[in-house]
Amino acid sequence: MGPGPSDVHPQVLAAQARPTVGHLDPLFLAMMDELKQLLQYAFQTSNAMTIAVSAPGSAGMETCFVNLVEPGEKVIICRNGVFGDRMRQNVERCGGIAVCVDNAWGEPVSPANVEQALRAHPDARFLAFVHAETSTGALSDARTLCALARQYDCLSIVDAVTSLGGVELRVDEWGIDAIYAGSQKCLSCVPGLSPVSFSEQAVEKIQQRKSPVQSWFLDQSLVMGYWSGSGKRSYHHTAPVNSLYALHEALRLLAAEGLEQAWQRHRTMHNILADGLTNLGLKFVVAAPYRLPQLNSIYIPAGVNDAALRSALLSEYNLEIGAGLGELAGKAWRVGLMGYGARRENVALCIQALTEQLSLR
Ligand code: PLP
Repeated sequence: MGPGPSDVHPQVLAAQARPTVGHLDPLFLAMMDELKQLLQYAFQTSNAMTIAVSAPGSAGMETCFVNLVEPGEKVIICRNGVFGDRMRQNVERCGGIAVCVDNAWGEPVSPANVEQALRAHPDARFLAFVHAETSTGALSDARTLCALARQYDCLSIVDAVTSLGGVELRVDEWGIDAIYAGSQKCLSCVPGLSPVSFSEQAVEKIQQRKSPVQSWFLDQSLVMGYWSGSGKRSYHHTAPVNSLYALHEALRLLAAEGLEQAWQRHRTMHNILADGLTNLGLKFVVAAPYRLPQLNSIYIPAGVNDAALRSALLSEYNLEIGAGLGELAGKAWRVGLMGYGARRENVALCIQALTEQLSLR
């Protein structure tokens, strides 16, 4: 019950153990086509450029920035935790100009502040923000932020590493232009893959680039030669065949449960956990309307030794909870309820373990 990787579903682990075939084997290519459709369902999009990058969420982030942002282009970056600042670093490494809109850690991104920045920078080409900030547990209003991006003629770039599969996310309906996620959070798959999707407008922007993408590996125009369903597929890199089996199975399980049912399960488990934590006198970092069900940040009570308590949970209950990150290091714990981990027995174990351990300290 940490901030990810989450517990991997046993069927996903079994899928990963299937015999490895060649990455251009017809059976494997057929599975990739299905995987693409399953990803389109998970993202709620019909975007043709929807694939899994063969590397973790950070590579999905980099894929979006290196393909879209050209030197000298301005990007409004929202920062309300660790991952927004990584977006800034990506923009600057692409030679872009980052204009930062800051909110305090634990707060969602403020649409009013974003609109102010969009008005002040009419030459901005992109708006980038983190939908679900894993460092704090805050959920931002992606629908409103993407509508603002459209209104001010910007393309939106959205980090959905922790949100995909755990909370409502509708790429086409909300007008998201570029989005990246992670396999290891609410999809409960093995770490190391990053689903991404680009809208038609984003693809046009990539096609109109004046300079080549500086990363050969992440250049989507080359990667699509392998992932594209039409025409002859050509070798780009050796795909992580067994990890892709795992992602296919994780997405199949999500589709079998139903996306909305999965969002509801995360919400229900969060409500039970939040009641239990509140009864123990623990306080949430994030105000109730903006809390992520899948990432619960709670302040460490005064006088409790952070590392000693987490280590007791691990050794005596086989239970992992996450430490605080960045500004919240040593001040908060992060209790994950992600994917297959969002189950009643986990919630009950966590409350029991914290009840016992906090009474000892
Ligand atoms: N963005 C967010 C919101 C994350 O939570 C993470 C990882 O926890 C990342 C990006 C980076 O993903 P990865 O660690 O898979 O590279």
